[in-house]
Amino acid sequence: MKTIVLSPQFDKSAVKTAANLLLQGEVVGMPTETVYGLAANALNGEAVAKIFRAKGRPQDNPLIVHIADFDQIYSLCPAVPPQAKALAEAFWPGPLTMIVPKGGCIPDEVSCGLDTVGIRLPSHPLARDLIRTAGVPLAAPSANTSGRPSTTTAEHVLRDMDGKIAAILDGGPCGVGVESTVITLALDKPRLLRPGGITLEQLRSVLGEVEVDRALYEKIGDDVKVSAPGMKYRHYAPKANLVVVEGEMEEVTAWIRQTAAARQQEGKKVGIIATEETKESYPEGDVKVAGTRADEATIASSLYGILREFDGDGVDEIYSEAFASGGIGAAVMNRLLKAAGHQVIRIT
Ligand code: AMP
Ligand code: MG
Repeated sequence: MKTIVLSPQFDKSAVKTAANLLLQGEVVGMPTETVYGLAANALNGEAVAKIFRAKGRPQDNPLIVHIADFDQIYSLCPAVPPQAKALAEAFWPGPLTMIVPKGGCIPDEVSCGLDTVGIRLPSHPLARDLIRTAGVPLAAPSANTSGRPSTTTAEHVLRDMDGKIAAILDGGPCGVGVESTVITLALDKPRLLRPGGITLEQLRSVLGEVEVDRALYEKIGDDVKVSAPGMKYRHYAPKANLVVVEGEMEEVTAWIRQTAAARQQEGKKVGIIATEETKESYPEGDVKVAGTRADEATIASSLYGILREFDGDGVDEIYSEAFASGGIGAAVMNRLLKAAGHQVIRIT
C-alpha cells in the first residue's frame, strides 16, 4: 500500500480525501494537540482491526474514541456520569480522555472486550474538522509502532507507518507533545490512569478527590491486574538503553559527565538529555536540550522527537536528567521512566 501525505496547507480537499478514506474503512494518521493518532471509523470493527495490525499493538489494549462535539458522547455512552459533564465543561476540547461505561454501538475491536470506553474531544482544529467531515467518531491510538516513542510530526508517522496505512494528514508539529491524561469514571472514585496535558491538580480542582493509580510511576509485576491494559506494556522506548539519573542537579550533571566520558573512552556512543540550564555541563557526548526547567511544557513537547533523533544518531546508550514531577512534569517523568524501562540511578 502506498501511504499518501495530505497537506491541508497546499491542498484544499485534504481533509475531505482523508474523511473519504476513513469512510471506506481505511486508517489515516491524524494530527492532534497531544501526539499524532492512527485513526479509523470507531463504528467499523474491521477498520479498527487494521490499526492493531499497522501498529503491532497487543490485542488486549483498547483504543480511545475521538469526538468533535460533546453531544456525540451520548451515542457512545448510554449513561454519561455527571463528573464527565463537569470535566468536559472545564477541559474539553483538550488533552483529557475519560473512561466511561460503553454503549452497544462500540465494536469489541475498540474496547477489547471491556464494558467501558475511553472518549476524548481533541482541540486540534484539523482533528475536529476530520471527525466532523467523516461524520463518525474516530478510534485512534498514538500513531507509532507499538513500544516505540509516540509521533509528534507527520515525518515521524511516515517513518513508522509508510506502506501500512492509507494516508497521513499533515498538521505540522503537535503542541503538547505527550499523550492525553486518562481518568476513569467507571470505578467507585475517579482515578488517574495516565498523567498528561491536564494535570492532577486541575482534575482535583473540578472533582475534589482523584485517586492516582500506583502503576503510574512504579514497575509493575506480570501478575498484577492493571486498570488500563496499556500500563503493563513497555512504551515509548528508544533503540538505545536509556537511564534516568536523579538527585541534586550538580551531582547529577557531574555523574552524567563522568560516565559519558568513561563510556566514550570504551568506544560507546553516548546520548545525553539535558536542559537549557544544564547543557554547558556536558563537554562530551551527543547532547540534546529537551527544553527549560522554568517551563516543563517545553520538555513535554520535545521529548519524543529527541528520543527518535537518538535512534537516527545510532547512540548506544542515553543518560537523561530527571525532571520535576509536578504539573505537566508528572506526564514527562511517567513517559521517561517507561521509556527507560524504569532504570533509574539515584545519586545520594
Ligand atoms: P494510546 O492509544 O497509545 O493513547 O493509549 C491509550 C491508553 O488508554 C492505553 O493505556 C489504554 O490501555 C487506555 N485505555 C483505553 N481505553 C480504556 C478503557 N476502556 N479502560 C481502561 N483503559 C483504557
Ligand atoms: Mg501509545
